[in-house]
Amino acid sequence: MRFEETPWAARRSCYWKCVGMTDVARAACIIGWPVSHSRSPIIHRYWLKKYSIAGDYRQEAVAPPDFAGFVSALSEKGYVGANVTLPHKVRALEVSEPDRRAVAVGAANTLWLDNGKLKSTNTDVEGFVSNLDASVSGWDKAIDKAVVLGAGGAARAVIQGLLERGAERIALVNRSQERAKMLRKTFGSAVEPARWEECTPLLSGAALLVNTTSLGMVGQPELEINLRSLPPSAVVVDLVYTPLKTELLRQAEERGFRFADGLGMLLHQAVRGFELWFGVKPEVTPELRALVERDIVEGH
Ligand code: NDP
Repeated sequence: MRFEETPWAARRSCYWKCVGMTDVARAACIIGWPVSHSRSPIIHRYWLKKYSIAGDYRQEAVAPPDFAGFVSALSEKGYVGANVTLPHKVRALEVSEPDRRAVAVGAANTLWLDNGKLKSTNTDVEGFVSNLDASVSGWDKAIDKAVVLGAGGAARAVIQGLLERGAERIALVNRSQERAKMLRKTFGSAVEPARWEECTPLLSGAALLVNTTSLGMVGQPELEINLRSLPPSAVVVDLVYTPLKTELLRQAEERGFRFADGLGMLLHQAVRGFELWFGVKPEVTPELRALVERDIVEGH
């Protein structure tokens, strides 16, 4: 069977017709400033090869003043869409038509052209929930209380994901109370701002603990937390993926908690962009994970 006759090719071709484009080699990119640290090219190039798609995924270093001009000419530059990383995620939302997740998070990390219109979403929400779906069965059965550490951009995506999956209360522990209060304003009264001193008592009765701070990341201070009051059935998640196994996850494993790591989220958040640009919903495979793990280990 020739490639054009395979089910993947047929589905892609149908997809391009639906969105008003022809089935030719296409390219996407990651836009950042700087951008060379990104692992997205490894992920998307792996999938392009795996699904035999004659496309490309490149890195584009674009300075903040040039961002709006760059994305308004995406198509002329040969791109069907892009990932967006620091410092452009808020600007990406402003210059596109965002979906409800991007609006809720207040930032977009994925852009695509839909019949000439530049649309955007935030795939960190999906990355967070899909990673948990894949690694911890039944994690969202009854989230009476979740404890989220941190109130930055990543916390917004996590809160959105938790609310979508029915979390009733989210204790939001953050150094800056102002920032935590802003998130309560955005997401509503289910979000309860708290201080670090309150963390240990808050863990008692929590179904989920999520670290969204940069604490525990290579080059950052350690996350100091004691999990003794967390119920044995609780699930622990760390968004930090350098190192691959953080001190928090080490402690969680030692105490027998189920857990999910930041690398899983990074891989799962890439799925939607690839599907939008190339018309195939890709799989997060152990082989892909090993590839990115190797890059992280070699990079540090
Ligand atoms: P932000 O800069 O927006 O937020 C950082 C958060 O960490 C804030 O809540 C900040 O508190 C807190 N923080 C930083 N330093 C300290 C400290 N010394 N003591 C106490 N709190 C501190 O970053 P992001 O939200 O974008 O990213 C946070 C982490 O999540 C990063 O490690 C990032 O790599 C990771 N991430 C992982 C993803 C994945 O796919 N796995 C996706 C997105 C992010 P304060 O508000 O008080 O400053």
